[in-house]
Amino acid sequence: MNPLTMDLTVLLPSLIPSSQSVYVLVFYFVYLAVAGEILPGKVIRGALLSDGSQLRYRCNGLFALTLLIAILGICAKLGIVSPLVVADRGLELLSATFIFCVLVTLALYVSGRSSSDKSSSLKPHVSGNLVHDWWFGIQLNPQFLSIDLKFFFVRAGMMGWLLINLSILAKSVQDGSLSQSMILYQIFCALYILDYFVHEEYMTSTWDIIAERLGFMLVFGDLLWIPFTFSIQGWWLLHNKVELTVPAIVANCFVFLIGYMVFRGANKQKHIFKKNPKTPIWGKPPVVVGGKLLASGYWGIARHCNYLGDLMLALSFSLPCGISSPVPYFYPIYLLILLIWRERRDEVRCAEKYKEIWAEYLRLVPWRILPYVY
Ligand code: NDP
Repeated sequence: MNPLTMDLTVLLPSLIPSSQSVYVLVFYFVYLAVAGEILPGKVIRGALLSDGSQLRYRCNGLFALTLLIAILGICAKLGIVSPLVVADRGLELLSATFIFCVLVTLALYVSGRSSSDKSSSLKPHVSGNLVHDWWFGIQLNPQFLSIDLKFFFVRAGMMGWLLINLSILAKSVQDGSLSQSMILYQIFCALYILDYFVHEEYMTSTWDIIAERLGFMLVFGDLLWIPFTFSIQGWWLLHNKVELTVPAIVANCFVFLIGYMVFRGANKQKHIFKKNPKTPIWGKPPVVVGGKLLASGYWGIARHCNYLGDLMLALSFSLPCGISSPVPYFYPIYLLILLIWRERRDEVRCAEKYKEIWAEYLRLVPWRILPYVY
């Protein structure tokens, strides 16, 4: 048998979801729905929508995540759940999630089309092109059983990424392949994901939440793309050994820390500015354009310094894999393309929204992401 035929005969059956992978997904979504509703958390008002309304988000993701990990840890200790369940059934879970994404977005399409709601969050935007409307979505913030689905899916994706990583970690411990590279990769990602949930309220003012409608693109991105492709480095390290020198480890930590500082600092400055435009930035009164746009701090260095920080973080997740293969660099390369594309779309949106104020901001801050380069 040639190797390709052999690979396909192994690969194809492992893509067919078993009942167990469906149970895992159902348990996960039910847990998140219940935990999101009942666990305490700060209730945050979302961005002001065009009809003057504001959605409310209960930011209890960190509590929900730590409780879930504790429950799974106890169940693993008691032998009720295998910590390898995700690592052993990765492809099945991936295809089950894909099928779920298709079904849920078809349901969103049908319910969106038949909605007669006039509010900004639920008003249907129908172009008439089925593929376009299914892909980009029809409603801004659709709900199911009073759960904000957009917020729910992005939370599910970020937590899913950590759960996949933890299962990969358990697998590497079990098969004796745990390496410095794996430990570095796991620590960086875990810190990034935990930090995301510590600052979950900042998510409520991001582009996805305030501007993007909920269609296949976003649901697929949140539920499948984030957890399964951002963890490629972990899967790769399960099968590949990398020897890191001490200077390489130090440099890797440095890229992570600088990336984190810029990413978190920039997002925090914008979030604080939106809440109170008079809050000092780096100890000085903020430079504000037209009363609406922040032009100091990170936002005075480049118009999307937060993307720069995120790109450095993405790179730091891949560097533990060395440079012998391009495969672990999938995430930073994808993110570079995505963020350049997104930054272009955001600029168009902001130019339309802020008009001459935006033009003034462009004059004050000419760099898009990386000063003197782009
Ligand atoms: P931003 O958080 O940068 O949000 C852009 C919006 O911020 C603009 O539409 C505008 O909205 C407002 N804004 C822009 N410039 C200013 C300014 N100078 N002063 C005040 N407000 C301003 O972008 P995203 O939502 O795309 O990204 C948020 C974070 O998520 C980033 O750090 C990004 O890296 C990360 N991300 C990560 C992804 C991943 O796959 N890892 C994917 C996408 C994002 P308004 O109309 O409210 O003024």
